[in-house]
Amino acid sequence: MRASQFVILGLGRFGSSVGQELMEIGCEVLGVDRDEEKVDEFAGSLTHTVVADATDEEVLRSVGVRNFDCGVVAIGDDIQASILAAILLKELGVKQVVAKAVTELHGRVLERIGVDRVVYPERDMGIRVAHQLTSPNLLDFIELSKEYTIAELTVPGCLSGKSLANVNPRGRFGCSVVAINKARGIVIAPNADDVLNEKDVMVVIGTNEQIEQFQHSIRS
Ligand code: ATP
Repeated sequence: MRASQFVILGLGRFGSSVGQELMEIGCEVLGVDRDEEKVDEFAGSLTHTVVADATDEEVLRSVGVRNFDCGVVAIGDDIQASILAAILLKELGVKQVVAKAVTELHGRVLERIGVDRVVYPERDMGIRVAHQLTSPNLLDFIELSKEYTIAELTVPGCLSGKSLANVNPRGRFGCSVVAINKARGIVIAPNADDVLNEKDVMVVIGTNEQIEQFQHSIRS
């Protein structure tokens, strides 16, 4: 099976980070930036790099962007360039287009022109850090909808040695532990008699309120 192929337009902090992680995962990555220094910086760590203006249709055609599985528009400051590049990727037939937005309005425009996924790296990371700072047990979370979340919570010392039946998050708060990540491996769909140990990580699903209440109850 051939590796998935990605084209990244803009090799700033966000674009280069996405590109390098995709390489780690085993994908092929073409990085495009109009700044020669940026291209030199990442020439060794991406599959291919090109110095070019991402808003130039001929350039995008000539590098064959339509053959890529996904295009990532990682241009922030120059909103006009970001929008033009995203439109061109869509028009040239890139199957999936992801674009970074720096403001809500920028994001709305990107959605209107048909970008498949708009991401707000600074805003989203700010929200994550705020939650992590105020919830010491919270490692990470995914919002499934406005109401439902999956959260990773570290097991505090006060729960160490207790079984899930003892802790009883479902009975007490309505949220469920769907996995426990232990040093020896991950336990999927744990049973009531599975025992928690300090520093294990519980993967919990429930409403925001249920998870908040559970977190509050185990705050060490
Ligand atoms: P980051 O936060 O990811 O570092 P940023 O949001 O500040 O980036 P910019 O610095 O504007 O965004 O752009 C990121 C990269 O995109 C830069 O390396 C810049 O040279 C490149 N870039 C901007 N406009 C274009 C364009 N029209 N064509 C190609 N590359 C571009």
